[in-house]
Amino acid sequence: SDLRTLILDRIRDVPDYPQPGVVFKDITPLLADPKAFAAVVDELAGAYRVDKIVGIEARGFILAAPVAHKAAAGFVPVRKKGKLPAETLEESYDLEYGSAVIEVHRDAFAPGERVLIVDDVLATGGTARATVELVRRAGAEVVAIAVLMELAFLNGRERLDDVEVRSLVIV
Ligand code: 5GP
Repeated sequence: SDLRTLILDRIRDVPDYPQPGVVFKDITPLLADPKAFAAVVDELAGAYRVDKIVGIEARGFILAAPVAHKAAAGFVPVRKKGKLPAETLEESYDLEYGSAVIEVHRDAFAPGERVLIVDDVLATGGTARATVELVRRAGAEVVAIAVLMELAFLNGRERLDDVEVRSLVIV
């Protein structure tokens, strides 16, 4: 489709980043193009009626904040451990080497609020899986996860079989 082309033409493959053998999908050319950026935000915001948009640090913030504005929803940050100032809930998840911890404010949601989680890239699904757990433990309902790009060969979707996953582009 037009949107698919608009996106794919503006995502740059960077070999050997952040480590040898990895091809990183760099979304900065897309963000720098006002037409493409706006089209992506509109598409991510349009599909669901929700109370809150959750953005995952750090590139997720760039998309989730304008999506929240467009959807007339609130914005809630999920951040790496130690960055949020008030009382938090935390969730840890495994990385290829070691583990990571993410947090959300305990009072980020009213009970039963409807939430859309937004991130730039779905890779192994570990980050999204942990975010779903965090949002649910904070008392909200995860309506869906929406990402700009899904890397299908990493099978992230398999770890998210209890939640709707919407990807604007699957590669
Ligand atoms: P996962 O937890 O699914 O393996 O990795 C997804 C997280 O890592 C997302 O928050 C995403 O921002 C980041 N990520 C992993 N690979 C890439 C990539 O190739 N490009 C970009 N832009 N982000 C990536």
